[in-house]
Amino acid sequence: MKNEQLVLTPVNIQYRPDNIPALLDDLKQSGLIGAAIGDLSSYRFNFGENFSDLISFLGCSPSIPDSSKRDGSCIEFVFYDSGSQFLGGKNTTDPCCPECKHQFKNWQQILQTWQDNNNKLITCPACNHETLIPGLNWRYRTAFASCEIIINEISEGTALPADALLQKLENFSGCNWSYFYRQI
Ligand SMILES: [Zn+2]
Repeated sequence: MKNEQLVLTPVNIQYRPDNIPALLDDLKQSGLIGAAIGDLSSYRFNFGENFSDLISFLGCSPSIPDSSKRDGSCIEFVFYDSGSQFLGGKNTTDPCCPECKHQFKNWQQILQTWQDNNNKLITCPACNHETLIPGLNWRYRTAFASCEIIINEISEGTALPADALLQKLENFSGCNWSYFYRQI
């Protein structure tokens, strides 16, 4: 699980907080993040005191990363100045139509289409539903966003953000948040 991450992103792919310190303060007060690791501007933090309440671990013997080891187990924030990015990793897979579950083939080609023109609509060949490419169902293995909160060393399907955390992020940002799993 060394190279596996749980990543939280705003559903509004253009959203990037205007006031980054206020977001970090908010998440520090809620106990998601603890002390900064290294330079504050690197946006890397130890887990806070309420980490295991705000991230729900599944299964009977949850594997909670140990941020005291400082070996990569930490929470990182990335803010993109240049707008929304494709955030997928090695585990990115072909997306589905959000309406009929038709599976598109060749996600690399779909990604290229988005990079060439990120306003391009894609039409489902099965049900004719039209959607922007980030609006396809990427099956919790990719997102498109302008910022991300990365929780390192979480394997796919073993943990997810608690409702209280998603609500907190929504309250701060004014938009819904989702999550996905990434292998790097
Ligand atoms: Zn469809």
